[in-house]
Amino acid sequence: MNLARFPRVRLAHLPTPLEHLPNLTRALNGPEIWIKRDDCTGMSSGGNKTRKLEFLLAEAQAQGADIVLTQGATQSNHARQTAACAARLGLACHILLEDRTHKTDRDYTENGNVFLDHLHGATIEHFDSNPDMNGELAKVAARFAADGRRPYAIPGGGSNTTGALGYVNAAIELVTQANDLGLRIDHVVHATGSAGTQAGLVVGLAGIHSGVPLLGIGVRAPKERQEENVYKLAVATAAVAGCEGAVRREHVVANCDYVGSGYGFSTTGSIEAIQLLARLEGILLDPVYSGKGMAGLIDLVRQGRFRRGENVVFIHTGGSVGLFGYVRDFGYGHPSSAPAA
Ligand SMILES: *Cc1c(COP(=O)(O)O)cnc(C)c1O
Repeated sequence: MNLARFPRVRLAHLPTPLEHLPNLTRALNGPEIWIKRDDCTGMSSGGNKTRKLEFLLAEAQAQGADIVLTQGATQSNHARQTAACAARLGLACHILLEDRTHKTDRDYTENGNVFLDHLHGATIEHFDSNPDMNGELAKVAARFAADGRRPYAIPGGGSNTTGALGYVNAAIELVTQANDLGLRIDHVVHATGSAGTQAGLVVGLAGIHSGVPLLGIGVRAPKERQEENVYKLAVATAAVAGCEGAVRREHVVANCDYVGSGYGFSTTGSIEAIQLLARLEGILLDPVYSGKGMAGLIDLVRQGRFRRGENVVFIHTGGSVGLFGYVRDFGYGHPSSAPAA
């Protein structure tokens, strides 16, 4: 694989740190827990989408785009990072926000990522929950084109073969760091949603024959559908990246037991995970993605699914800005204090 063949704009602070979590490791009394800090990619408080946007926005520039369009849920970290990266590159940004949760409190509808979307100068269009938001995105792109603009549309989560290249690169980066540290990685765990992160990681880890097993903790779809989405995108990405045939179906493993009442709703486990990491390690997770991913990891450690002496790397995909959209779920002085689920 030679990723330098693909156009790329440098936006992220890379490599992100790979750190040991001594206090969490001690508290759980299980495997050694490490964290790959993709919450520290730099743009607008960071997150995993910035790695994808390096490849996506290079393509937008190559096509002569003057406006970037994308879509996501109200508290989309992807929309916020797209708005920030577009601003950096002098491109306009228009965001389609889908109301998947029907939450009405103003923290959720106006604070957190929504506040930052506005701050980065993006324009926003609101949609009710809709199973075909990428279809709506195509319609809006056609509308801009009819007005004489040159739109570049990025699918939800930046999850296509171009965006996934960012995580092919991240897998190579992680294994290189571990080699330098003399760290034997026994498992990698992360939150999986629109599939681009996991698909890219699968391709990168398989493409360099790392032998490192990967587990995605689902935040939305049931296991079978999540794995199918990831597998399809991984196979397509492998073909683009130049390692066709490297990905096998059994490389794609998702555990979707930690979704709770649905996408965008915190769970007792995600709130506990967020509080644990905040209090033991000074690290911020989020209720929609990284908190559920960590809740899954913590539960699997408690079930004895990883052995003492093994090294587990949790990829922190970011999202802490979303915390400010969920203040009520933590019960610190707000009248409605119960986590949903
Ligand atoms: C988007 C996102 C994910 C999931 O990544 P996908 O590529 O959509 O699967 C995980 N964590 C955070 C914080 C995210 O914003």
